[in-house]
Amino acid sequence: MADENVPSSFSKSLYFGHIPERMVIPYPRLRPEERDTLKLLLDSFRRYANDHIDSKAIDEAASLPPEVLKGLKDLGLFGLAIPEAHGGMGLSVTGYARAMQEVAGVDGSIAVTLGGHQSIGCKGLILFGTEEQKARYMPRLATGELVAAFALTEPGSGSDAASIKTRAVQQPDGSFVINGSKIWITNGGIADFFTVFAQTEIEKDGQKKDRITAFMVERSMGVKNGPDEPKLGIKGSSTTALYFEDVRVPRENVLGDVGGGFKVAMGVLNNGRLGLAAGAVGMAKQVIRLAVAHATSRRQFGRPISEFGLIKDKLARMMIETFAAESMVYMTTGLIDHGVEDYSVESACCKVYGSEMLWRVVNESLQIAAGLGYMKEYPYERLMRDARINLIFEGTNEILRCFIALTGMQGPGDRLAQLADFIKWPLKGYGLAIDFVVDKFKTQYYGGPRLDHVHPILKKEAVLFEDYVPELAKAVEKTLRKHGKEISEMQYVQKRVADVTIDLYMMIACIARTTASMIEKGPEAEREARLCRAVCGRAAGRIKRNIRMFDDNDDELLKAIAKDATDATQYPFDVVLG
Ligand SMILES: Cc1cc2nc3c(=O)[nH]c(=O)nc-3n(C[C@H](O)[C@H](O)[C@H](O)COP(=O)(O)OP(=O)(O)OC[C@H]3O[C@@H](n4cnc5c(N)ncnc54)[C@H](O)[C@@H]3O)c2cc1C
Repeated sequence: MADENVPSSFSKSLYFGHIPERMVIPYPRLRPEERDTLKLLLDSFRRYANDHIDSKAIDEAASLPPEVLKGLKDLGLFGLAIPEAHGGMGLSVTGYARAMQEVAGVDGSIAVTLGGHQSIGCKGLILFGTEEQKARYMPRLATGELVAAFALTEPGSGSDAASIKTRAVQQPDGSFVINGSKIWITNGGIADFFTVFAQTEIEKDGQKKDRITAFMVERSMGVKNGPDEPKLGIKGSSTTALYFEDVRVPRENVLGDVGGGFKVAMGVLNNGRLGLAAGAVGMAKQVIRLAVAHATSRRQFGRPISEFGLIKDKLARMMIETFAAESMVYMTTGLIDHGVEDYSVESACCKVYGSEMLWRVVNESLQIAAGLGYMKEYPYERLMRDARINLIFEGTNEILRCFIALTGMQGPGDRLAQLADFIKWPLKGYGLAIDFVVDKFKTQYYGGPRLDHVHPILKKEAVLFEDYVPELAKAVEKTLRKHGKEISEMQYVQKRVADVTIDLYMMIACIARTTASMIEKGPEAEREARLCRAVCGRAAGRIKRNIRMFDDNDDELLKAIAKDATDATQYPFDVVLG
């Protein structure tokens, strides 16, 4: 039965107890022609990196040598995501992500510079630009003649992006004059093309309102930047403030609609998060290479340390987590390449898991290297510093967990309200009135969704996934009925919902990928099957715990403890001195 409430997003469907298997199986693969192009590109990049990129030196100098920037431009790396018609390489979303994975595996600063340019800096133009705007800017962006930056964050507006103060006032000739400032803008010191977000006054329903508009602003229009910020990691990337003092921007440089800038920003970030997550996979692979080399060569107690159980445990977990993130990232990019338009939840899942995965993997690799890992002479501490940013930018992981949960729950919330003949939340208090329809809904949608195309050796994993999808749907429905619109303030619950979503998405990504590998490679894919089993077993354990904690948790206890800290303005105890 076609149902207008059941979404076109894979993850959002899970909240209805649905498994749209055809979206994810077979696991998407890159077109063979593009695979060949990509291999050639990555080979050239590797050769270039071997000869010219010295990450230790970049970190110490806290800047990218101009000749390296030029070398990257010459390789075409500034035009990866720009269509061929406009002078770029026209890579698919998967191809672009795979290239960013390779770059991040070599150097975090370079990955952030390239990502700042095309994952976010000129992505607004790619996604929302008119043909005229694309023709005007893309050829120079593709070669790197123009470097791009994405300017949203302000001193008073970080996670709360809608609260920006920078203002653009329309002039009688139609142009806009921008005043305000931005902070922590990647490529701020080297960019000539800025996607800038500013408040503009629009008229809606006869009333004047402030709405965000996106502008393409050239440095030559009067943009000034502050000095490069000294920072913890990715030191070779430029991060600066930007200043706009009466910067006049022509009307034709508005990106999307006047007042439609928030949509542009969110569209860009939904996309950018995948480049970031792919980069995390690339760094994790590099870290695993280092950890394995150290663990197999370092001898203690007469043996290589790789022979000790606790080192094996670390190596195995690093492999498992990297496999999970890699499977999720390329499942998502494949969905986009196959025309799926609603991937905001999936890309947020990839960003949250990918960044946290990398943080754990880097931490474990440093532990394997131990004292040596702590020394500046070796790359571990730099990798750790470089990895840390991923949990912060392009939406903090806290904000993204709330986003995943609230976006996912929106569908069932609307559905329940609709079924109960109520258009809007809150649902609380309508219990009896909606029991009848909810029961009908339950039998219709919780009738045991099944996966039909999973390889038989992954039967157990498939069953775990099938069993937990309705559990998520039930837990969400119960929560919505119990708390109604209060759910928007209940972040402990949101975190649980988000974590279950991430784990389910991870499971299906690994199951689909491994199924494809079993079909393509036969018994040779046994190593992937091992990883898939480990991912699914662990994810199922976490889901079980999170589902149980919907009813049985210590949320109130934790809130009281946090209040103790804020009330006392510090840790208020001294067990020795009293
Ligand atoms: C190296 C670097 C490069 C950057 N590059 C760019 C760039 O190119 N373009 C750009 O526009 N910005 C950029 N940023 C800014 C970045 O996107 C912001 O730092 C990020 O969005 C978080 O904002 P904030 O730092 O102000 O943290 P805040 O929003 O002040 O958050 C502080 C803490 O509170 C949490 N928090 C906030 N609100 C909530 C909530 N409602 N619920 C739960 N927790 C909450 C956050 O998760 C975080 O842990 C960059 C930042 C850095 C450090």
